[in-house]
Amino acid sequence: MRNVLIVTGGGRGIGAAVSRLAATRGYAVCVNYRSDAEAARKVVQAITAAGGTAFAVAADVSRQAEVERLFQTVDRELGRVTALVNNAGVVAPQGRVDQLDEQRLTRLFTTNINSAFLCSKEAVLRMSTAHGGPGGAIVNVSSAASRLGSPGEYVDYAASKGAMDTLTTGLSVEVAREGIRVNAVRPGFIRTTMHADGGEPGRVDRLQHLLPMGRGGEPEEVAEAVVWLLSEAASFVTGSFIDLAGGK
Ligand code: NAP
Repeated sequence: MRNVLIVTGGGRGIGAAVSRLAATRGYAVCVNYRSDAEAARKVVQAITAAGGTAFAVAADVSRQAEVERLFQTVDRELGRVTALVNNAGVVAPQGRVDQLDEQRLTRLFTTNINSAFLCSKEAVLRMSTAHGGPGGAIVNVSSAASRLGSPGEYVDYAASKGAMDTLTTGLSVEVAREGIRVNAVRPGFIRTTMHADGGEPGRVDRLQHLLPMGRGGEPEEVAEAVVWLLSEAASFVTGSFIDLAGGK
């Protein structure tokens, strides 16, 4: 049976690095994206050019119907999913809690945490031995923000990642005897274009001196931990968190 991996938000940043690295380790990869088809196409092209298997699927993973279509497409094209990385996520412009509104909160929470629940549901239905599946592994891409709270920047984003941590803990126990491991990584200050969406493209450069290691991280450094957690090398690891934030 081959390893079939879905990476949500796999077209750019951390998700793209995970997709590329997992493909080199033999996973057939579904690169999910929401709107940047060109970026996802380039990731798929790099993987297939190197002899791997990948294809891209557009789906807004905050929407249940689109998540169901995503998983059904993978069933058909690659076979039953054995690994899921809940990576898709967004930030919103930096600000204080007293500047927030309902529209922003709905977008942040549906994109960052509803998506992880909806995708985990579809994955468990296919992986769980209780549902006749072979088992599998889920890795949630949380954030150092879940520990630090992101005051003055985006407490709402940090809270969505706090929910991701709780999902990791609860689901890991729920399915521990059904062959599924659930873990999380908590990156911080990683060099991707996400910071531009928060209104500050140079955010990592401005803040990296605050980290004990004195530098920001690269998406590939996060991918190494994600792919390890997915792998059989981590066969006794569940409900765990790896902090990838330069020591903070
Ligand atoms: P990024 O470069 O902005 O990439 C985000 C990815 O998520 C894109 O591929 C985007 O798709 C996808 N996406 C967004 N909303 C989606 C939706 N509704 N449905 C499907 N895909 C969606 O961000 P990144 O920095 O790599 O972040 C990846 C994850 O790491 C996020 O969960 C983020 O919170 C977390 N993280 C990042 C950092 C950091 O410093 N960068 C630190 C801690 C945690 P399109 O390309 O189609 O737009």
